[in-house]
Amino acid sequence: MIDETIGDYGQFSLDDMRITLAPGTPESMAQTLRHEMVHAALAISGIAYIERLPEEAIVRALDSIFWPAYQSLPKRTWPTKNS
Ligand SMILES: [Zn+2]
Repeated sequence: MIDETIGDYGQFSLDDMRITLAPGTPESMAQTLRHEMVHAALAISGIAYIERLPEEAIVRALDSIFWPAYQSLPKRTWPTKNS
């Protein structure tokens, strides 16, 4: 859902199982959605509740290191069993 009144780029609510995004450019909203989806995965899995887990640092590390590296991989077709 999109809500221009939230005071952040995005939020994930485990109670509602909902990600809310602030309006923005399509690129920034897509990045925020991916960021909140990682928060959702950590929360739903229970990993986010490990005591003293630096969740925001982990999600931001994915944002700044993992996803850019993943997206820079050359696009290719992986060989199939028969090729
Ligand atoms: Zn975050």
